Amino acid sequence: MVKNTRYEFSTRLQNWVGSNLKIRINNNRSTMVHVRKDEGKITNVSLHRMFIRAPKTIQKALAHFIRRDKAVISPSVQAFIDKNIAQLDHSHLLDEICTKGSTYNLKTLYNRVNRRYFNSQMKLRITWYGDPHVKFRTKCTFGLYYDMVKLVKIHRLLDNPQIPAYVVEYVIYHEMLHALYPAYVDENGRNCIHSREFKEMERNFREFEHAQNWLKIHRINFFAPQRVYSNGRTQQMGKHQASKR
Ligand SMILES: [Zn+2]
Repeated sequence: MVKNTRYEFSTRLQNWVGSNLKIRINNNRSTMVHVRKDEGKITNVSLHRMFIRAPKTIQKALAHFIRRDKAVISPSVQAFIDKNIAQLDHSHLLDEICTKGSTYNLKTLYNRVNRRYFNSQMKLRITWYGDPHVKFRTKCTFGLYYDMVKLVKIHRLLDNPQIPAYVVEYVIYHEMLHALYPAYVDENGRNCIHSREFKEMERNFREFEHAQNWLKIHRINFFAPQRVYSNGRTQQMGKHQASKR
């Protein structure tokens, strides 16, 4: 393992790629490597910060991929990504587990979903998270799944008597499916979150259409009443962090 500063890393990568590209370092789980081109010329590269401390051989392979000497990401870079995603520490997430809400008890809903769709075989944790009075509702994520700690998180916005239980259960079900169908990094370095199998399984939810329709109808007037904050982003059910193993 080579210790690199962010600056040294960026400079080295620029030299290897051989163009005056802008390098952005991110810490999100959905983008490992993203290359942006303008008229065929590479202008921007967004990279997960894990690459800063990658061995030089990995960084060099990464540079090859960015230059598109190779169409697919090399197995060594792929293995590095897989290993590092698996090692990100999420144990702090277990500190504040809370299932009791003012309207819904998550444990009760989770158990029902587990019984109905998984024969009670799923062994996950579940917790509420977030502020129910959050102002920037459009930026809220309903549910998240953290595979490393087998934890489902549901936003407290859903702990509301105006929201039908089947909608909350649908969000829980969706997040539980992430435990069965882990995301994977494809040959382009993208984190693929909802596979075809995942989407097929999702349709097994009994009130699938109802829940989808409910969310579609209420998303605007319930979750985003203040249009001024609407920035074109849609609510995501989950960002599904660290679901890669
Ligand atoms: Zn999802």
